[in-house]
Amino acid sequence: MDEVVLDVDGLHTRFRTQDGTVHAVNGVDFELRAGEFLGVVGESGSGKSVTMMSLLKLIPMPPGEITDGTARFGDMDLLQLDAQGLRDVRGGRIGFIFQDPMTSLNPVIPVGKQITEAILLHTDSSKAQAKERAEELLHLVGIPDPKQRLKNYPHEMSGGMRQRVMIAMAIACSPEIIIADEPTTALDVTIQAQIIDQVRRLQDELGTAVVWITHDLAVVAGLADRVLVMYGGRVVEEARVDVLYSNPQHPYTRGLLASLPRLDQQGHELVSIDGQPPNMLREPVGCSFAPRCEYAFDRCHTETPQFVEVAIGQKVACHFDLNKGEPR
Ligand code: SF4
Repeated sequence: MDEVVLDVDGLHTRFRTQDGTVHAVNGVDFELRAGEFLGVVGESGSGKSVTMMSLLKLIPMPPGEITDGTARFGDMDLLQLDAQGLRDVRGGRIGFIFQDPMTSLNPVIPVGKQITEAILLHTDSSKAQAKERAEELLHLVGIPDPKQRLKNYPHEMSGGMRQRVMIAMAIACSPEIIIADEPTTALDVTIQAQIIDQVRRLQDELGTAVVWITHDLAVVAGLADRVLVMYGGRVVEEARVDVLYSNPQHPYTRGLLASLPRLDQQGHELVSIDGQPPNMLREPVGCSFAPRCEYAFDRCHTETPQFVEVAIGQKVACHFDLNKGEPR
């Protein structure tokens, strides 16, 4: 699991709006390794979706603008690709699963035709082979009677089934990476569990690397190998999932974990993090979490904390050492 398939460095994304410039992503660095399951967690507005969508220029441009950074994928920099290069990568080598399936499904074309078109676009299969593969894919994502279902329009399917069709489209060309953006939030708990299980199984079978974006740390607990915690358009902590849960090193991660219900602790009180998320219209100065942080001191308001390794495989951006109880 060591080969790095995606290496993002110094990514900055802005949106120019009537109210001013939204500083959505402010210097994100991370690596994704072959076959790994990476959870990306943060509140809404933390920059997690914009980060991933920026990589394939899926943000509206304008008003969006990628102002800095690189994203190495194989021998190319995704951020330098032209329109044709992006079309080749999207849906071919990198598959996206969105929260709302209707974002990527065309309402007036039967789902079978949509899947076969994706296969024909990115592989040299014949029409008959693409059709056969589409049927196989629906079967793989757990849709009963796939032959009949291929003829359905999206509106003839339930939300859970549309989500599965989108997964089928995302994996149609055996991508090296699947990026899933809150794909189960709108679904009921049973369907959520089935979809998560399905993606996990596919990942095991196909060896695909998965990036799973969510606002819910509980969802990634049983899924991810590694987790990135995002706040204010930056990664504030990165660690293996077991390390993150047992020894979180950023006050924001601690706050998120404290707010999770614990089945093993009866009477455990839920704690919510006081204060408001940062105003992204302001140029970030110092640590964005400072107004909400009980450990904040002078330096936090003026100096942006660097992302440093504090243990093997665990990095944190914070001026305060929580283990020692003193500034670093
Ligand atoms: Fe809190 Fe300072 Fe650490 Fe930010 S850098 S999380 S304000 S202690």
